[in-house]
Amino acid sequence: AKAAGRSSVCFFDKSMNARVIRRLDMEAKLRRAIDNDEFEIHYQPKIALPDRTLCGAEALVRWRHDGVLVPPAEFIPIAEETGLIVPLGLIVLTSVLRHIRAWRDEGLRTPRIAVNLSARQLFRPDLAATIFRLIAEYDLSPQNIELELTETQMMADPERAEAALSQLHDAGFSITVDDFGTGYSSLGYLKRLPIQCVKIDKSFIQDIGADSRDEALVDAILAIGRSMKLDVVAEGVETEEQLQFLSKRGCPQIQGYLFSRPMPEEQFRHWELDSPEN
Ligand code: C2E
Ligand code: CA
Ligand code: CA
Ligand code: CA
Repeated sequence: AKAAGRSSVCFFDKSMNARVIRRLDMEAKLRRAIDNDEFEIHYQPKIALPDRTLCGAEALVRWRHDGVLVPPAEFIPIAEETGLIVPLGLIVLTSVLRHIRAWRDEGLRTPRIAVNLSARQLFRPDLAATIFRLIAEYDLSPQNIELELTETQMMADPERAEAALSQLHDAGFSITVDDFGTGYSSLGYLKRLPIQCVKIDKSFIQDIGADSRDEALVDAILAIGRSMKLDVVAEGVETEEQLQFLSKRGCPQIQGYLFSRPMPEEQFRHWELDSPEN
């Protein structure tokens, strides 16, 4: 029994080691990727209902590593843990502003672009100053950008979140609560924090038509949005049935594979930006 005990301890140590090594390896690769500019931004349209017109887009980062596109789920968590999300976030924001500038210079439409922010970025004292400087550098306005943060990120430190977000809100940036409904905090923050929009998490959208409790939840969120004068976006809309439900219930905006997957900038600029304002 003693021998078995020792060998299982040994096995545990080995797998721990493997995990730590993989993590360190990933961190080193990420660092290099930041230095070598290996990231690209994909855009996913946001669609206004009921007319189904383009009303914005979300910027989603991709890592092109050795020719392969690595999805954010594989590196954002590590970037957040190591703090590399701060320089990476700056790359994302700069790339987005550069794209919007180019669209404008070419006479294309410039829908508002939503950028995901992590708590690490939000709680840096220089966040607002950095964003203001970049906006000025590209000669754009806060109206060009929307900032998406999850409720969990904001609630990590509500007071500091409120201070940081107020600075951005007062300057004209629009702020959205991402993954709405998946956190565990009370709804009180909705009236305290300067937010304009909530994004219904895709886990609630996915079971529309299958689970009436999810439908009730979506209805409740839409009602909260109306009564608090917040915009509401449903994310992860994949089927016609989900779209029908959401438009019947008066959901103002949707985002999802049904309309479009996130796409590279070269494709997004031809998607609808080159059609007249509608
Ligand atoms: P998120 O902010 O909740 O983004 C929505 C995710 O849902 C994206 O995954 C998007 O591609 C995916 N999605 C969109 N429509 C559908 C649909 O109809 N069905 C399904 N199943 N999925 C859909 P993605 O691009 O893999 O990003 C994953 C997460 O990584 C994001 O979740 C966000 O938390 C994080 N992320 C992505 N880009 C950035 C970034 O620039 N900065 C930060 N801090 N986080 C980012
Ligand atoms: Ca998001
Ligand atoms: Ca989300
Ligand atoms: Ca999410």
